[in-house]
Amino acid sequence: RLIFSLGKSKPWISSTTTSTVTTIIPPMILTNYKEIGYKLRDDHEAINMASTDYGNMVRQIPAAVLYPSSIKDIATLIKSSNNLSLPFHIAARGHGHSVRGQATAPNGVVVNMMALKSQRDGPGVIVSGNPFYADVGGEQLWIDVLRATLEHGLAPVSWTDYLYLTVGGTLSNAGISGQTFRYGPQISNVYELDVVTGKGEFVTCSAHKNSELFYAVLGGLGQFGIIVRARIALEPAPKRVKWVRMLYTDFSEFARDQEQLIKINGRKDKNALDYLEGSLLMNQGSPDNWRSSFFPPSDHSRIISKVTDNKIVYCLEVAKFYDDRSSKTVDKVLKLLLKGLNYDPGFMFEKDVSYMDFLDRVRGGELKLQSQGLWEVPHPWLNLFIPKTHVSDFNTGVFREIVLKRNITTGPVLLYPMNRNKWDDRMSAVIPDEDVFYTVGFLHSGGFDDWESFDEQNKEILKFCEDAGINVKQYLPHYKTQEDWMKHFGSKWKTFIERKSKFDPKKILSPGQRIFSHQ
Ligand code: FAD
Repeated sequence: RLIFSLGKSKPWISSTTTSTVTTIIPPMILTNYKEIGYKLRDDHEAINMASTDYGNMVRQIPAAVLYPSSIKDIATLIKSSNNLSLPFHIAARGHGHSVRGQATAPNGVVVNMMALKSQRDGPGVIVSGNPFYADVGGEQLWIDVLRATLEHGLAPVSWTDYLYLTVGGTLSNAGISGQTFRYGPQISNVYELDVVTGKGEFVTCSAHKNSELFYAVLGGLGQFGIIVRARIALEPAPKRVKWVRMLYTDFSEFARDQEQLIKINGRKDKNALDYLEGSLLMNQGSPDNWRSSFFPPSDHSRIISKVTDNKIVYCLEVAKFYDDRSSKTVDKVLKLLLKGLNYDPGFMFEKDVSYMDFLDRVRGGELKLQSQGLWEVPHPWLNLFIPKTHVSDFNTGVFREIVLKRNITTGPVLLYPMNRNKWDDRMSAVIPDEDVFYTVGFLHSGGFDDWESFDEQNKEILKFCEDAGINVKQYLPHYKTQEDWMKHFGSKWKTFIERKSKFDPKKILSPGQRIFSHQ
């Protein structure tokens, strides 16, 4: 149902304007671009979809939504904005799994990238077996990338925990999971990009060609261009996964073991783990949560007793992948790797699952929540990177003091380390300035009338870090003032604004990040 919505004398008037960008779209101007006019929708369904996101806490209404059927449509839209003396904002919306309106464009135009998925000429994922890579549309979901590459016996090496996110969306942040300590984030596993810049220019870029745009866009929060193709590194795919969880009551043993294990991290090192994460078990009733059911039901009661006695139990989670050739050695390698770890005796649990089931492990929980109407609720998430030297202070000050006292944690809390040398500092993504840093994820689900209490906790955590001099960096960042953004980027801020002037000089793109526009 595409509605030709332009040319109507409709008051698409915004409440505010910034110095360079208007939030009024003059209908007469856009009608000059007839080839995209009929792909713009302003009906309730389209506007509603583009006004909010997974977070369900922000509602920012665009004037229209573009349903592109080609990359040219996207370029035409961006050019049409650039040609105005007062341009309008444009935001790519991948799968809208941001939580604070980052993919919205108040009074501007949202580009529904998912429309490209079904309409693009040719397949969205093209696999090359020699050399190994996949050319993937920016609108593709990682689950589709996985399915397409597995058909060729190949797969990307770096993942997110959840696969129903677009390639363009995660590459605009970083894309992290248990593989990051060894392979780096997803942004470290890209060979080449096609980008439509904020000027509407189509540019192919890589580390060797138009490299400034390449590094700007990776982790660039959608500020420099819209990713329409990414060439992703692949490796031969394993078939199965040995998946192990171990419980700790002592935080320093837990952290020491995690840090020890990520020291073996060579990409080709057969003795390295393939995945390492960690999480906290607190007062949640069951040792499992919506993201995973792992522990054998017969062990639930003794794990719950452990949590009740200790208030917090730390769970170290590792995986080793294998296929027919390595099936005989995988147990030996794993045993050797886990030898000498100081988890609580009797609290190691093991599973053997297919590679697909492992990577797509969060989907089952999602479907269950969807069926209970609990998926589309507010998600006041907080994700941080913590320098290793302060992770123990964070444990004491945040987990033991703030979180236990407030006693409102209902969502999963993740905590695991990664190696800085697997990230590329030329990219826009921001991480702490230490060789090893931890990611912590408070993945809260709130009710529509009580989610603010989680946000209060989030604010208290950030304040604690500031007062304690812990230089945390937000992942999937959200700030309200440019001053906070400057602090976030630190020494990278100068480069960030220089790149913005070069690739999106009229500051048109991704206004929902609130870096250059503060509606
Ligand atoms: P959107 O929310 O649609 O967009 C995010 C930002 O990127 C916006 O600013 C948007 O304008 C911009 N953007 C979107 N597409 C493009 C494009 N093609 N080119 C340029 N800019 C673009 N993250 C992790 O790293 N690891 C995880 O394990 C993980 N798990 C998650 C699980 C769930 C259930 C959820 C909801 C989120 C998770 N995330 C995780 C966070 C996720 O990676 C980010 O929110 C990501 O932005 C979502 O992708 P998306 O396609 O929904 O992007």
